[in-house]
Amino acid sequence: MKISKRADAVQPSATIAVSARAKELKVQGIDVVSFGAGEPDFDTPDYIKDSAIQALKAGHTGYTAAAGVIELRAAIADKLQKENGLNYSPEQIIVTIGAKHAIYEAMQAVLDPGDEVIMQAPYWVTYPDAVKITDGVPKIIQADRANGYKITPQQLKDAISEKTAMVIINSPNNPGGFSYSPEELAALAEVLEGTDVAVLSDEIYEKLIYGDTKFISFASISSDAYNRALTVNGLSKAFAMTGWRLGYAAGPLEVIKAMGRLQSHMTSNPVTFVQQAAITALTTTTGVVQEMRTEFEQRGKYMAQRLNSIEGVVCPEPTGAFYCFPDVSNHYGRNINGAQIKGSLDFAKALLEQANVAVVPGLPFGCDDNVRLSFACSLEQITKGLDRIEKWLNQ
Ligand code: PMP
Repeated sequence: MKISKRADAVQPSATIAVSARAKELKVQGIDVVSFGAGEPDFDTPDYIKDSAIQALKAGHTGYTAAAGVIELRAAIADKLQKENGLNYSPEQIIVTIGAKHAIYEAMQAVLDPGDEVIMQAPYWVTYPDAVKITDGVPKIIQADRANGYKITPQQLKDAISEKTAMVIINSPNNPGGFSYSPEELAALAEVLEGTDVAVLSDEIYEKLIYGDTKFISFASISSDAYNRALTVNGLSKAFAMTGWRLGYAAGPLEVIKAMGRLQSHMTSNPVTFVQQAAITALTTTTGVVQEMRTEFEQRGKYMAQRLNSIEGVVCPEPTGAFYCFPDVSNHYGRNINGAQIKGSLDFAKALLEQANVAVVPGLPFGCDDNVRLSFACSLEQITKGLDRIEKWLNQ
């Protein structure tokens, strides 16, 4: 059977090779330290699980409105108002099957074939492919290490053409582990004034910020920013709910309605009893999210400090998300125990085979100088893994 050009244009993630090999080694009984995880190592808090169980027992098992139950959309509107200072009516909010689906649907609703979408490298692997699936064209700005992997207003200005339809901003950032300050975001927003470029602001790591970092939602910068913003968020990272698949988008009514029309034909509603549990997650005040954040902060600090103490490794201290993104390119060109290290794929492969530590190569994130290490694992594992990396590179 023939395969469509659309499907053909989408590459399987280059990260898969490393994680598949790590699994193989584990099956063989080898003690692999894995820094590959893209999800919290905590379990979903019990009060959220209990809420889902109760919802099931209470019969929340049928279809709902395709865009989600109005009570959940209202709870999200309330969260955005209280925590982010954003005024969205429940009708301006769509509940989706994870933030990933909100991103894809937003592109489907806004982009026409040939429209350009500006994003920075490092980027989350899904963005360029989501653009391609929508017949759009990814336009990538290479961010500098010297600028903490953040783009400058001038770089954004230079990347805009008459074909630009959208800019993606992801702060706190996967894989970079950095966050844009409110001032930096405001400077980027200013560049867009007078254009009709939409901004997709992926705020999935909102709750995971460290040190003096302040989170600000892009849409809250100004009324101009609000009018061009599609705010995407979800419960996966903040509430350790990756497998529940619940995300959302908020934005201009006509765009959310368009996304709702698409969703009504693509998937219908997100899982009914999960929507009830999401209301509980968003409306219950507990210290659980804060506890997870504090734990991540300690681990991130320690991991970055250990990485920086290794010769030829440079890693900014993470200010958000749960990733360190060190530059390891000083080691490229070396031959380590017979393995020729030409780039991040070779580096990750040799590190896994020789020292049994799994990291994600930077190439699929648009930065071959780097590798990504997740600190969504215990301090004990981090210590063990970093001891191995240090020994491996120092030989
Ligand atoms: N955006 C970013 C930057 C992510 O890292 C992820 C998860 N890896 C997502 C969106 C998707 O989140 P969800 O599980 O809600 O689909």
